[in-house]
Amino acid sequence: MKDTKGLLLMTSIFAGKKDILLLISLSFFLSIIIASCEDKPSNYNQRGNYTRAGQQEVEDLNSEQKEPSGDAVSETEEIMGIEKGTLDVQWIHGSDNCNQDANPPIQVHQYSSSVVIMRQNKCINFEAPFMYLIMGSAKALLVDSGATGNAAQFPIEQVVETELQRYYGVRRNEIMLVVAHSHGHGDHVAGDGQFQDKPNTVIVGTNQQQVSQFFNIDNWPVDIGLYDLGDRMIEIHPIPGHQGTDIAIYDPKTQLLLTGDSLYPGRIYVNQWEVLRASMQRLAAYFQNKPVTHVLGAHIEMSATPGQDYPIGTTFQPNEHVLQLTGATLQLLNTELQNIGPNPMRKVTDSFIISP
Ligand SMILES: [Zn+2]
Ligand SMILES: [Zn+2]
Repeated sequence: MKDTKGLLLMTSIFAGKKDILLLISLSFFLSIIIASCEDKPSNYNQRGNYTRAGQQEVEDLNSEQKEPSGDAVSETEEIMGIEKGTLDVQWIHGSDNCNQDANPPIQVHQYSSSVVIMRQNKCINFEAPFMYLIMGSAKALLVDSGATGNAAQFPIEQVVETELQRYYGVRRNEIMLVVAHSHGHGDHVAGDGQFQDKPNTVIVGTNQQQVSQFFNIDNWPVDIGLYDLGDRMIEIHPIPGHQGTDIAIYDPKTQLLLTGDSLYPGRIYVNQWEVLRASMQRLAAYFQNKPVTHVLGAHIEMSATPGQDYPIGTTFQPNEHVLQLTGATLQLLNTELQNIGPNPMRKVTDSFIISP
């Protein structure tokens, strides 16, 4: 409603006196429209009977419930405060001759005003993980620190610092950087050392107790943690199975769902089969009727040809699958896992491969 007051003030300042009455009427009419957009019926987001500890709290935060919208972000969503982003980007994808590779060690793509996606160069490490920086008004969250520790080769701390300076300006000194991880595998934590002893920086530990404690998850893995970056409440969903301390991160502001190595266009390796099946069942149920703009994982291993992946260790992927998956892909992963049942089995789909 504060927008409406501003509008009224603006119209009073800029309009001639004769027009003021007309504009006030118009503003009043607009305020009714805006109010009707904001004030959803209180039962708007009550659906299904699926309950988990912490879910009601999370649902209350997501009072702006809509059906999954795929890639399109409608004008309505912008009005309702959803931050729109773009994935119109050509990711660096290695080189056929890494000795002559001219690409930077880290590609930086500004997804939206407050979300940055980074990709490591395949010529430095074939895993070429994606890393995500989400910025709130008090804290910034870095999800994963990359596959290489050496700052001369892979200056992740320096790149992140540049992005923080760009976004916060002089306020950077007041902002806490939280370095967290999609899970504890080496290709997601190797850059942690570069952040040690840096001012205003905290590194989240990689064992389950440390992750639970930091994100206030009382009952791992069934509770959802909530973490406030300042005017930006992030959801932390434990989804063990690939490694053990795997989490999915949902940002209601952009409606992005980050899924690490547990769902991405590549080979989903499974350490604990039944644990992964349970994790994906929970995650799929939770997001069945929640808006997800994109599901973003930590690697690309599939080619653009459906069902075809690149061999392990590939350092050149000229025809790779796009990074983004959809809420429907999450539902498909769950369906496939439930169909396979308790005995682990490989399953190839167009955009991912279950690889027990
Ligand atoms: Zn992993
Ligand atoms: Zn990985």
